[in-house]
Amino acid sequence: MTRDKGCAFPTCHLPARWTDAHHLTHWADGGKTNLDNLVLLCRTHHRLIHHGTWSIHMRRGIPWFTPPPEIDPTRQPRRNILRQ
Ligand SMILES: [Zn+2]
Repeated sequence: MTRDKGCAFPTCHLPARWTDAHHLTHWADGGKTNLDNLVLLCRTHHRLIHHGTWSIHMRRGIPWFTPPPEIDPTRQPRRNILRQ
């Protein structure tokens, strides 16, 4: 995958070879296997997304991560600026 050079989680610097593709919409729920539906995440952040309350959405092909209120009460979306 060329868009994400590594884990897409904000501030994470792990390279792509240490990541897995995360489906924003699971294929069982009708999610497609294309770049708009895939985000590379390292194991730690993949687990966080699956078990935590962060949410991800795509904005012009870039994954933005919205933290849960206990981390940021204003829930400001953020992206990984290391991947620009
Ligand atoms: Zn990561």
